[in-house]
Amino acid sequence: MTRSKHFNIVGGGLSGSLLAILLAQRGFEVDVFERRGDARRAAPDDGRSINLALAARGLAALTAAAVIDRIQPLLIAMRGRMLHEPGASAQLLPYGSRSDEVIWSVSRSALNRALIEVAATQPGIRLHFATTCLGADVKANTLLLRDRCTGTARTVPLTATIGADGAGSALRQSLKAARLIAVHEEPLDHDYKQMTIPAADGNYAMDPHALHIWPRGSFMLIALPNPDHSFTATLFLPKHGSPSFETLGDAASVKSFFASYFPDTAALMPNQAQEFLAHAQGMLGTISCDRWHIAGQVLLLGDAAHAIVPFHGQGANCAFEDCVMLARLLDSRAGKLNDLAELFAEFQASRLDNALAIAQMALENYTEMRDSVRDQRFQRLNFLSLELERRQPLRFIPRYSMVMFHADITYAEALRRGAVQAQILDDLDHATLGSNTDYSLADQLIEARLSPLRSSTK
Ligand code: FAD
Repeated sequence: MTRSKHFNIVGGGLSGSLLAILLAQRGFEVDVFERRGDARRAAPDDGRSINLALAARGLAALTAAAVIDRIQPLLIAMRGRMLHEPGASAQLLPYGSRSDEVIWSVSRSALNRALIEVAATQPGIRLHFATTCLGADVKANTLLLRDRCTGTARTVPLTATIGADGAGSALRQSLKAARLIAVHEEPLDHDYKQMTIPAADGNYAMDPHALHIWPRGSFMLIALPNPDHSFTATLFLPKHGSPSFETLGDAASVKSFFASYFPDTAALMPNQAQEFLAHAQGMLGTISCDRWHIAGQVLLLGDAAHAIVPFHGQGANCAFEDCVMLARLLDSRAGKLNDLAELFAEFQASRLDNALAIAQMALENYTEMRDSVRDQRFQRLNFLSLELERRQPLRFIPRYSMVMFHADITYAEALRRGAVQAQILDDLDHATLGSNTDYSLADQLIEARLSPLRSSTK
């Protein structure tokens, strides 16, 4: 295959490695500059890696890149939220109205390693590990790199560089410093910490086919299954106040916190206090930019362009969707890159509103997961929305389902229709006032307020 054109990709994380594969499949030469060492030589996952929930958008992207068969064995299906309330038995709230509406737990590092393994075998891709991007000099049209082993700095031409270097993107920071883009950073006042629920006698200590949640109002613990029969648990907790990370500085305070709020986890996590104190405290936040591209030189995508909080489980799904959108735009030009600036502008136009929409929904989902999910009215309306979907699948799909199970519905459309649906649920709930739902009224409201979707199923 003749390789007519070339891209640099900064960052060989989830989006960088998937994009490299998609571009190479289209006949492009790709240089990937990744700050970390070669993931293929890293120690096996010790269970402390972040677990991701992959959903329809991520799976569609992995399918589009023809890597799904390589990834599938890493995935564990989760069919709903398993609620752990004090003094009550665990309760499963299904994610969707259909049994195939599940989301998939996967280790981020295992997923990344698999994508790097595929990328390494693709003709046209050159992987440069231990290579840190220091930023871009747009005027000089140079990308600034440093070899982490030798400390040597070098430059390569900036033209056609994709910034996939994650939430802390050095490329984004250099564009911001040069006043070429405006960046809004909104840190969350809650941090997170990962812990382990080990296998019990070689088996899962809880149902592996659920995302476990211990919602406690202003904070929560969640746990996702791993293939080695352990779970990775994550505590999301305010940074300050009581309780908060700042009040949990020693083993006694950690033990007392878990005993008060998560008493059932003591048996699940034998090394609770030691692990808590040994593990790093991670930060979360939302990042948005007024623009993602400079001429045909640089385009930011994934977390580098639009990092979001993890509560809708969509950061990676959205980053993967970005990659496929860019590949589709290239396909629409039959692989010819006469005007990169136009391509990058078109990419931004197609994705910016969607990135803002999922950022908003991700923040809203934190309140839902840690608090509303316990509420009787929330559970009633959740059940009703699944029932309305069964009755009116062409028009009414719960917002969560649109985001997680319908890759053909954009995030912006899910946000818009979700607001209309929330009003319908509210109106029905008020009209019903504790009696049985009036489904003929439901049908009337839905038909009056919601246009049919182009497709109701995946
Ligand atoms: P990354 O995956 O972060 O990759 C960036 C890459 O760039 C890395 O390899 C990094 O080493 C490299 N890099 C960074 N700086 C430089 C530099 N200067 N030079 C060269 N290379 C550099 N998403 C979901 O879809 N579902 C979930 O359930 C989910 N859960 C999450 C839970 C937590 C606790 C967190 C923190 C995130 C979660 N996410 C989830 C979000 C998801 O991890 C990110 O959205 C996703 O990894 C973004 O992919 P990316 O390629 O843009 O960035």
